[in-house]
Amino acid sequence: MPASAAPAPTNNLDAFWMPFTPNRQYKAAPRMLVSAKDMHYRAADGHEVLDGAAGLWCVNAGHGREKIVEAVRAQVAELDFAPNFNMGHPKAFEFASRLTALAPKGLDRVFFTNSGSESVDTALKIALAYHRARGDAGRTRLIGRERGYHGVGFGGLSVGGMVANRKAFGLGLNGVDHLRHTHDPARNGFSRGLPEHGAELADDLERLVALHDASTIAAVIVEPVAGSTGVLPPPKGYLERLRAICDRHGILLIFDEVITGFGRLGAAFASELFGVTPDIITTAKAVTNGVVPMGAVFASSKIYDAFMSGPEHVIELFHGYTYSGHPMACAAGLATLDIYQEEGLFERAAVMGERLADGLHALKGLPHVIDVRTVGLVGAVELEPIEGAPTRRAYAAFTKAFDDGLLLRTTGDTIALSPPLIISEAQVDELVGKLADVLKAID
Ligand code: PMP
Repeated sequence: MPASAAPAPTNNLDAFWMPFTPNRQYKAAPRMLVSAKDMHYRAADGHEVLDGAAGLWCVNAGHGREKIVEAVRAQVAELDFAPNFNMGHPKAFEFASRLTALAPKGLDRVFFTNSGSESVDTALKIALAYHRARGDAGRTRLIGRERGYHGVGFGGLSVGGMVANRKAFGLGLNGVDHLRHTHDPARNGFSRGLPEHGAELADDLERLVALHDASTIAAVIVEPVAGSTGVLPPPKGYLERLRAICDRHGILLIFDEVITGFGRLGAAFASELFGVTPDIITTAKAVTNGVVPMGAVFASSKIYDAFMSGPEHVIELFHGYTYSGHPMACAAGLATLDIYQEEGLFERAAVMGERLADGLHALKGLPHVIDVRTVGLVGAVELEPIEGAPTRRAYAAFTKAFDDGLLLRTTGDTIALSPPLIISEAQVDELVGKLADVLKAID
């Protein structure tokens, strides 16, 4: 079609069926982001918005990083696409090596995906296939946790524990159980870092073992810190206890680090920070600073090796995506890791996290605030729901904050803060100050 015949661009909002959005409400009063640099978005009306959410928990190195832009530009010009089935391209191998150098010891194999949801479903499939490869095919049961979020694939949806996500779709996978969640504001309200109480909740796994027998259980998946369900740090000792029970019964432990991976908590991975090493880690989001969609699943050599004992001409794992290890994603990821390391951003997150925690905990006592939780450079301020209208109050905070120049993320009636790790001290204070003003202004 000649350019002159191309349809004129319109501002019609009808065609795009927006994800996880009340479409009609949004389209009646749209908020449009048109550009971004460092810590800020610019909205269509020209006002600047401080990014308190790292986009969607992913832009850890801040926006518009030249090094990443250049790496992607150069890669797409050099090699735009190359399959990784039965052939490969150098950047995928290079990136996998760089990633494993960063990962907790022993997790030295990487499987590439395109998103957190794909990483989770990949991890669950690896767990099931691992047991089969070892002749333990009875281990088919998967265990998640209430208030877990593991993406939207059928596997992740099934092990996830967000009621609203599940109930629209009827049945998920069979053979799935859930541990109880660890959120306990009565005992752990306003906790800073890891809450004191609740390690014993890990013993739910022993109960499921007693009920079903360990020989039927393949894997347990949890977020070390649940993010999308309201920022729920694990009680002290909880993850250690889960690890011990898994070891006792030959159950694989999967940590979903789609949010906590790549510095969010002040260490490369939550596993490193908490000193508990799972068998598989799922990641996505900040692996490329959110610039190119990508996920990466880390597996131990024990798992990888279990697949490598058959005949050499046989594909060991019948799984993969057209875009597993896409050249542009690998190029973006390599540049991203350079930035994280050159600028010491994980260490910086630990320092800025303390300041954020100081600021957020000082909001106790403001109207509607019923809990504050902080860990690393993540914080949550939970608001008392309006009776009969859950989520309304947090949504009001979100829209007012946006108008006032602050991007928040809300889940239920909890406001979650997870700014890019490049945030300055003054910007942490600005973020907290703006949030305080919003809380004082809403009903
Ligand atoms: N797991 C966790 C812990 C997540 O937080 C998310 C996304 N918020 C996902 C999985 C799904 O990732 P994606 O949206 O990239 O599919």
